[in-house]
Amino acid sequence: MSITQASPPPAKKQRPPPQSTVVTAIEKVTPLVTRISVTGPDLAPFAQAKPGAHMKLFFPAGVWPPPEGVTNAPRPPSRTYTPRRFDAEKSRLEIEFVMHGAGIASDWAAKAVVGDRLLVSAGPGGGYPVPEGISNLVIIADDTALPAAGMVIEALPHTCHVNVICEIENAGEERVLSPIVASKPQWLHRAPGAAKPASLLQAAAASLSEQPVGTYYWIACEAAAMRSIRDNLFARAGVDRKRVHTRGYWKYGDTNYPDHDYGED
Ligand SMILES: Cc1cc2nc3c(=O)[nH]c(=O)nc-3n(C[C@H](O)[C@H](O)[C@H](O)COP(=O)(O)OP(=O)(O)OC[C@H]3O[C@@H](n4cnc5c(N)ncnc54)[C@H](O)[C@@H]3O)c2cc1C
Repeated sequence: MSITQASPPPAKKQRPPPQSTVVTAIEKVTPLVTRISVTGPDLAPFAQAKPGAHMKLFFPAGVWPPPEGVTNAPRPPSRTYTPRRFDAEKSRLEIEFVMHGAGIASDWAAKAVVGDRLLVSAGPGGGYPVPEGISNLVIIADDTALPAAGMVIEALPHTCHVNVICEIENAGEERVLSPIVASKPQWLHRAPGAAKPASLLQAAAASLSEQPVGTYYWIACEAAAMRSIRDNLFARAGVDRKRVHTRGYWKYGDTNYPDHDYGED
């Protein structure tokens, strides 16, 4: 009888520790969206953020770094946000927070003041690789995905035609998606007390007129709505899967929704 020795489990990949930044500016973009700028010495990797990239923000900042001598402290709870704009010269990162109600990130942003600390991941991850030769793009997004939509619009070739559909709370939430590239979104205002988030996006996607051959789709919103829009595009409109990029940004009733829901299950 031969005895085989079990191989040791693969070493768990150590994620880099969060970096400390300081709030330098706070600006109300709309009644429900606050733009917060932070600065720090190690933000340079954000210059490489792809359109629609994400990062982690950790709360509360006060618990990090762990006391001297503590080597295995868990990282604080995190939430996923978009590194909307990075100014390399000033080492300044802009983040746009939707005040959706109670949640550690939304609560932090509502109370933030200049000088507060914010823990940010070591760099950006993910993002949308803009297809080569793209000539037509449909963007379907809710308010949490408007920062990412702005980044996507700015990364497109100027010859690309963009059709943007956004669901927001009300007319007061309409805004310029990019100060650099003009766009004319179709704004969908949630009815007061609307039953389901992103239901207007689902209806709009279901009644989309026929798009030119070769159109691409970038879709980011509440996760269940994203799936329904995705299914509809494939089943009803017969859209080629390769032309569709979908991402769930949050899920109704779920706290800390994962950052890697591309709806491909
Ligand atoms: C790739 C990616 C990029 C993102 N970028 C941004 C961004 O730039 N700006 C931004 O504001 N958000 C962004 N989000 C969404 C954000 O991560 C979630 O809204 C997150 O849940 C907020 O954390 P929280 O601590 O405030 O709430 P949580 O503690 O996670 O959730 C508390 C409760 O609030 C609900 N909730 C969460 N978000 C919403 C919402 N938008 N509307 C209504 N109810 C909600 C949850 O279902 C839960 O019941 C992004 C998400 C992803 C995956």
